[in-house]
Amino acid sequence: MKGVETIWLVKQKLAVQSGIQYKILVTNVLALNSHIGAMSVLLAAASCCKANLNGSRPHPGVRTVIAFFALIFVVGSVSCTPPTGPDGFDGAQVWRVSFKDAAGQKAFDNVKKQLSAQVFRHTKSNVDFLVGASNLNKAKELLASSKLDYKVLTDDFGKSMKAADPKMTTLEEGKYQSKQRKYKLTFKHYHGVKDIHAYMDYLAENYEAFVKVESIGQTYEKREMKLLTITNDQNAPYFWIDAAFHAREWLAPTTALYIMRELVERKANLSAALKKLNYYIIPLINLDGYEYTRTENRIWRRNRRPGPKGIKEKCFGVDLNRNFDMQWAFGGDEGSSSDPCMEDYRGTKPDSEAETQAIIKFLSSKITKLKAMVSFHTYSQLILYSYGYKTKEFPPNEKELHRVGMVAKQSIMKLTGKNYTVQGSADLYPAAGISIDWATKKGVPFVYCMELRDDGKLGFILPASEIIPTGKEGFELIKAVADAIGKPQSRL
Ligand SMILES: [Zn+2]
Repeated sequence: MKGVETIWLVKQKLAVQSGIQYKILVTNVLALNSHIGAMSVLLAAASCCKANLNGSRPHPGVRTVIAFFALIFVVGSVSCTPPTGPDGFDGAQVWRVSFKDAAGQKAFDNVKKQLSAQVFRHTKSNVDFLVGASNLNKAKELLASSKLDYKVLTDDFGKSMKAADPKMTTLEEGKYQSKQRKYKLTFKHYHGVKDIHAYMDYLAENYEAFVKVESIGQTYEKREMKLLTITNDQNAPYFWIDAAFHAREWLAPTTALYIMRELVERKANLSAALKKLNYYIIPLINLDGYEYTRTENRIWRRNRRPGPKGIKEKCFGVDLNRNFDMQWAFGGDEGSSSDPCMEDYRGTKPDSEAETQAIIKFLSSKITKLKAMVSFHTYSQLILYSYGYKTKEFPPNEKELHRVGMVAKQSIMKLTGKNYTVQGSADLYPAAGISIDWATKKGVPFVYCMELRDDGKLGFILPASEIIPTGKEGFELIKAVADAIGKPQSRL
């Protein structure tokens, strides 16, 4: 039987069984004239599915074709776990593999390649990665043959993901849509861009004497990058707080919003040091990626720029926190990736992304007034300071940065019992072209990247009940830094 006829018959069968009409769109498919030819297309469709686990996504125009062939592939009884959609992660697990040496790391890299595994976090001694439900046995075998030990961090990623983000009840919906409230944001649920921006607008409207909201630019998909400014004393130093460079790190924007609420709505409770300062707060930098995590793929990290023309076209997104013009591409593929399909792809040139450009443009004119920056990420429970691009390279006030980090660590331990580690960013792993290195190099004295909860058990999918306790932990670092800014001996 000829290949085209095979595809045509499957198409008809699917239409009868599912009621969905599938189109054959690609002309070279029509050119197939053998069963072998048809099977090679099916295999190509399968590898597209695997590539998705590496962070790629096909252009909309070819999605129909890929979906069609992927379905045929499943009909052909070969498994392939789709990563997107709420049910795409059911039965998937997160594993941590530890290494003793460089040989172990190399062995894991080989396993990772064979599994097309999505890496969630890596350090010099271990890696957390997602294993699709259909790949569990293969992963076990590959690790065993490579003599690598692993432990399961999350035993059903899909189940935990859904449990972490419960929908609002009708009662809650009604409460937040009542006439008394102009915004829907809670600290009991995760929210989309619309709700987050509505809360910022509400604060600007209700606290207009010292709060304003503006857009500092637009993202690739033309979303407004809203920033809230709190001005307590125009002559006082400014403090920059950002979150969501990486889309899937949902506890980062909630922490920035928690801090925003404390600084505006609960101003009366603040210490003198906090009350004296001014703040720029941007809770969502990667708005396009963030919305994408809410609708399409919960574990998306980068922005949503399409890949470069050619074979990498299906790989969307640049890692915005590898795109800054500060030792961009330093260390080759160690500190960031030149491959558009990798999670830490740095872009085609420094500051290539609209989101990066907007931040740099805004901050450059205010850099002399800026005395602090805290950039929130998840997960790992770390308080990191520059430089990230190279080990044993620190700013002149390294000791002071470490001391202030330790103050925050101790107060967090007292407050919630969680243990945070304070260290130089590159000691975790080298990362080049990052925002904190850019600000440190520009002379901003207190610059930190804070990796919030947890230590890997649930990683990016912590329950919404952890929003407030995690927000408090982030606020402890802001407090410690504010105290340090107030001390003249602490300044550079
Ligand atoms: Zn991050």
